[in-house]
Amino acid sequence: MTSHLLSDFLKDNLHDLKEKGLYNEIDPLESANGPMIKINGRERINLSSNNYLGLATDVRLKEKAKAAIDQYGVGAGAVRTINGTLKLHVELEEALATFKHTEAAIAYQSGFNCNMAAISAVMDKNDAILSDELNHASIIDGCRLSKAKVIRFNHSDMDDLRQKAKEAKESGNYNKIMVITDGVFSMDGDIAKLPEIVEIAEEFDLITYVDDAHGSGVLGKGAGTVKHFGLSNKVDFQIGTLSKAIGVVGGYVAGKQQLIDWLKVRSRPFLFSTSLSPADIAACIGSIELISSSTELCDRLWENADYLKEGLKKLGFNIGHSETPITPCIIGDEVKTQTFSKRLNEEGVYAKSIVFPTVPRGTGRVRNMPTAAHSKEMLDEALKIYEKVGKELDVI
Ligand SMILES: *Cc1c(COP(=O)(O)O)cnc(C)c1O
Repeated sequence: MTSHLLSDFLKDNLHDLKEKGLYNEIDPLESANGPMIKINGRERINLSSNNYLGLATDVRLKEKAKAAIDQYGVGAGAVRTINGTLKLHVELEEALATFKHTEAAIAYQSGFNCNMAAISAVMDKNDAILSDELNHASIIDGCRLSKAKVIRFNHSDMDDLRQKAKEAKESGNYNKIMVITDGVFSMDGDIAKLPEIVEIAEEFDLITYVDDAHGSGVLGKGAGTVKHFGLSNKVDFQIGTLSKAIGVVGGYVAGKQQLIDWLKVRSRPFLFSTSLSPADIAACIGSIELISSSTELCDRLWENADYLKEGLKKLGFNIGHSETPITPCIIGDEVKTQTFSKRLNEEGVYAKSIVFPTVPRGTGRVRNMPTAAHSKEMLDEALKIYEKVGKELDVI
């Protein structure tokens, strides 16, 4: 017999979500996640992926992945610390350290898992973490796992951060204090105020932790937000993902050799979860080589993003204050935002709606993720559809 407590819980809660229109239906893709995607037999312009540079489908990377499978097989066979460290993992970590201008780096199975691993390896119940209120879910979970006192500061509010850092420091209650921020915030596309954060960290002796999932491959000529501000030697933890601009899967920490040495003996997903597969690593190494050797894809990404932003603005849409390719189109009302996204989809543009509680009430938006792989024709077509749906729903 299975548990009736569980089935009651699931039935009630699923019903509740569906009633409120908050149950997310997933559309499986019938194609690669490129600039065009096929869903339910129909091609659409894809403005929803994090495949910023189009590398997820790059032919050169596919070849590298296939060659790695031929040489090493499809699985790494063990966790990193037993015998799941292939020479490829070491090569990837060297490439990441060079890419991030740090002494060393450590790779994990995902960006999410990397935050779970890294924060709790260093922080404990006698410590405090100052965390931007809009930080990614994986940072929030990583902080919780560490059992440190979490002190949220208002989004990118440097006065609030300074005040809370001062209070935490002067209280004498904590052994270590860390400040954690996303490098680029994924809902609005704004960039963390890293120069001020680093200054406050120096003033109050804080450990600095920047999760640059959306900045790597995008800002700093590809090297990320920390490099963008010229702060590579002033940030303790540079976190990144290998699944957005890099185009594959995985996560990493780049920093001082001692930090990486510690993470290799104390971060639990490194010790207790099987390492990245050969194909993934080989593709990641190839991807970092491509990004490091030329800014061509990064330049094209920005060109496309500027083109889309300009076009939406000219049509009269509110695109917020993004400083990166992330392009929100703010509709406001939750139900209208969902209808807007649904109509775009029916007309041939796949762009997801994001509403409360992911963003504040009344700021529902359709989020657009242009990539280097989109052509001008695709963006023009998307703008035409935006104009049609915008007029139809009285948004413009
Ligand atoms: C996407 C994202 C992650 C998760 O990365 P995955 O590699 O997809 O697990 C972590 N942190 C931030 C800030 C992100 O945007």
